[in-house]
Amino acid sequence: TQVKPAHKRILLKLSGEALMGDDQFGINRATIERMVAEIVEVSKIGVQVAVVIGGGNIFRGVAGGSAGMDRATADYMGMLATVMNALALADAMDKQGLTARVMSAIAIEQVVEPYVRPKALQYLEEGKVVVFAAGTGNPFFTTDTAAALRGAEIGAEVVLKATKVDGVYTDDPAKNPNATRYEQLAFDEAIGRNLGIMDATAFALCRDQKLPIRVFSIIKPGALLRVVMGENEGTLVHA
Ligand code: UDP
Repeated sequence: TQVKPAHKRILLKLSGEALMGDDQFGINRATIERMVAEIVEVSKIGVQVAVVIGGGNIFRGVAGGSAGMDRATADYMGMLATVMNALALADAMDKQGLTARVMSAIAIEQVVEPYVRPKALQYLEEGKVVVFAAGTGNPFFTTDTAAALRGAEIGAEVVLKATKVDGVYTDDPAKNPNATRYEQLAFDEAIGRNLGIMDATAFALCRDQKLPIRVFSIIKPGALLRVVMGENEGTLVHA
C-alpha cells in the first residue's frame, strides 16, 4: 500500500522535560530512544523533519533568574543546556540510522555547526534531520519561540508541539474530569480563552505567519506518525 503523508516538512518541538522520562532531571536513555524511533518512522516515509529541542530538563533561565542570577546569564545557560540535549538527540538518531545535523543559534564552533538557513534547507532536502539548538540565540526568549521562528524560516507546514497531554483541553484534564479536548481551534479562540498553548511570543509569531500548531502527546506510541498521516490526533490550532 502507498503511504502518503499529509505533511512534507514539519517542525517538531520537543521540550527538555520530554527527554527526562520518569527521571527528575537529565536525559533518560530509553525515553530518547523511543522518541527517536518515532521520528525514524516519519522520516522513512519521506517527511522532512526539523526539531527544536528545549533545555528545561537541565536548566531553565527563569528559575535561575528568580534564584538571584542575572536573567540574561541564566538564559545563556539555558540555551547551552539545549545544545547538550541536541547532541544527545542527534547521537541517538545516528544510532538508529538517521543522519542528523545539529545547528546552533550560538556559535560553539568546535562542537556544532552554526545555524545557516540555506544549509538547513539543503539538509532537509537531503533527508537529513536538522536539530536546532540554542533556541533563538537570545535571552528572554524560549524554545517555543525558536520553534515558531525556525518553523516559519524553513517553511514548515506545521509546528508540532509534543507534550505530555494529548492536546488542548477546555480545562486541566488532571484536575477536571469534565474537561474535553478540542479537535481544532482558531488562534483567536485560543487567545480569547487564554489556553496557554505556547508562550505569547511564540503564539503571536505562529498566528501572524498563519503557521498552524498541532499539540499532541509524545507519550502515546505512534502519535507522531498519525499526526503526519493527517489523522485527527491531538489538537490543531489554526488561522
Ligand atoms: N532560552 C533562551 N532563549 C531562547 C531559548 C531558550 O534564553 O531562545 C533559555 C531560557 O532560559 C529557557 C532555557 O533556555 O528557560 C531552556 O529553554 P525552554 O525553557 O524553552 O525549554 P523547554 O521548556 O522546552 O524544556
